[in-house]
Amino acid sequence: MSQTAYTLQIAVPRPLRTLLSYSHYADAALPVGTRVLVPFGKQQSVGLVISAERAPETDNPDAPFTIKPVDAVLDAMPLPDAHLLELLQWAARYYHHPVGEVIFSALPVALRKPKPLSTRLQKLLVSSTPTAATSPNPARLQLTDEQQQCLHYIQQWNAQIPRRPILLHGITGSGKTEIYLRLIAPLFAAGKQVLVIVPEIGLTPQLLLRFAHFFGDTPMACLHSGLSDGDRLKAWLQARSGAAQIIIGTRSAIFTPAPHLALIVIDEEHDASLKQQEGFRYHARDLAIKRAQMLDIPILMGTATPSLEALYNAQTSRFHYARLERRPGTTRKPDLQIQDTRPFELQAGLTPQSLQAIRATLARGEQIMVFLNRRGFAPTLFCPSCGWHANCDHCSVKMTWHARRNRLVCHHCGAEQTTPLHCPVCKNPQLTTQGQGTERLELTLQTTFPDALVVRIDRDSTSRKGQLEDKLSTVRSNDPLILVGTQMLAKGHDFPNLTLVVIIDIDQSLLSTDYRALERLGQLLVQVAGRAGRADKPGRVILQTSQPDHPLLHQLVGHGYTPFARQLLEDRKRWHLPPFGYQALIRASSTASMEKALDFLEHVSQRLLAADGAGIQRLGPIPAPLEKRANRYRAQLLLGSQQRAALHNALHQLLQHAANLPGRSSVRWSIDIDPIEF
Ligand code: ADP
Ligand code: ZN
Ligand code: ZN
Repeated sequence: MSQTAYTLQIAVPRPLRTLLSYSHYADAALPVGTRVLVPFGKQQSVGLVISAERAPETDNPDAPFTIKPVDAVLDAMPLPDAHLLELLQWAARYYHHPVGEVIFSALPVALRKPKPLSTRLQKLLVSSTPTAATSPNPARLQLTDEQQQCLHYIQQWNAQIPRRPILLHGITGSGKTEIYLRLIAPLFAAGKQVLVIVPEIGLTPQLLLRFAHFFGDTPMACLHSGLSDGDRLKAWLQARSGAAQIIIGTRSAIFTPAPHLALIVIDEEHDASLKQQEGFRYHARDLAIKRAQMLDIPILMGTATPSLEALYNAQTSRFHYARLERRPGTTRKPDLQIQDTRPFELQAGLTPQSLQAIRATLARGEQIMVFLNRRGFAPTLFCPSCGWHANCDHCSVKMTWHARRNRLVCHHCGAEQTTPLHCPVCKNPQLTTQGQGTERLELTLQTTFPDALVVRIDRDSTSRKGQLEDKLSTVRSNDPLILVGTQMLAKGHDFPNLTLVVIIDIDQSLLSTDYRALERLGQLLVQVAGRAGRADKPGRVILQTSQPDHPLLHQLVGHGYTPFARQLLEDRKRWHLPPFGYQALIRASSTASMEKALDFLEHVSQRLLAADGAGIQRLGPIPAPLEKRANRYRAQLLLGSQQRAALHNALHQLLQHAANLPGRSSVRWSIDIDPIEF
């Protein structure tokens, strides 16, 4: 039988914004998602079939080959399924990222190579199972009335068409995870799959144990960055075949194929680690919402501290909104107090009262966490004796102190000032810019409390395999100790003997130039405070600051997260900031000079103005908060619009002309849609 000519649209892992056409002679069209080898320039490249159509009939038998034929078909079956490919193509358009790079960065590393899947691994794909029998654990907790009610609402909502995403806003320890488990349980009998996205790798083992305990031998695939390439591929294939019914993973797990997907759960919806900040920049929560919408399946987002976007969507009824306000059992809320640092000389970053509280806690045989949020915020200049800080004259933001040039710059409008030699209010010549990092804190705490055990848990101190688990088990031994924690410890960990939390150095966030800093600070404080006194012992939280009168801090401490977040939303509305407006950040960097990066962005800015002067606000170009990194000078241009479509159209047009932008060859540049870090 003679073969038919097909024209294939192929994605290749290159920075191209289009698909490439190749021809293929076969008995039947190659299924969408099949990997192939194609000629690419003088080389060969792996490619993925996006579509296959019969080549037009022609009298000339050579005609289809005006486009080049594929060299080989790599696998006998498609790898990403058609739905996943549709999601990835949508993501490429939405995030304005080259489609082939999006698709291949979503595949396990092993599948990005031009090598066929081994026969052994292929078996994982075809051995899709009748469903394994689930043996649910009989020793389940009895849900509280509040949980029962909440579960009932969610089940009702899930039965409604059209669906809406569900936001589950429950305080730390209120039993959100129990709700997830109950929603998931009924799906397995019908052979369905569920995808659970969690923010931190540190959380995954605990959550996995809990799932394993609850669901007995229901097959589970776990995908996180700590896996070897081989294990990751295996987990991916098990999800793809439908064999793994529970798929748990960090942000990139949103790209796991799952033919019987029936529910998506996002834990810690607000968490910044759900956003990919390099290369193909995407937000796993937003893609999850899109994926659920495309499949018409329910999506549940849980958090103790919803993002302003999620709260706004709940306010405007785009999301259903469920609350859990109590902790099961008798645990009391911790006692939270603000402590003014200004009158004191700090020791190890701590006030005399904090030191005293730590001493007393150790003497009672209990544990303390000293929490230092070391996330890099742009340094602001302030006066430690009167609390003055350098504000922009034109905006409601703090100026950023640029050490190298010794100048104050507004990252909102670009205004600049020389750095004052003394405080303009109290004339104090010792203006301050920075706190201390966790490593130094650990040392000074050890010196201050020579007899106490000091345990530091941050990314640097837990980078080797097993280190985190070792440290956590030391803390869980419940011996008295001082834990130096960063945001790694802000959530998910239950330490029954931890009764005091001292939070230091939050001033940089209070004074940050980044309009999202206060939201993040509020989330962090609530999450960290949730660590104190989870068992039968009352907890205490001390919040040290040189800004004790900051109105939003009072709102948070006095009234809780929701009123605080509402207030922030009011401010966002006034300034047309997200979620009341849409943003894109264009970054450029140059090894030669800051001017090169700025010049390029100036051309981008002009091009945008020419394409669509109205509707798009342009802030910058200005030097990035981190002006130089890894020998590159970095600059940025922030775009804002009240209309998402206007912003996206402008970017689309910009990219059409990108090849002709002057100065393009001397910079690296990227587009960040819905940026959360500046
Ligand atoms: P969250 O996910 O909201 O932080 P979890 O589901 O982890 O809360 O629950 C916090 C703690 O309370 C866990 O130790 C959990 O086992 C326990 N818990 C949850 N629901 C109940 C319940 N109904 N009865 C008793 N304990 C519960
Ligand atoms: Zn002063
Ligand atoms: Zn300004």
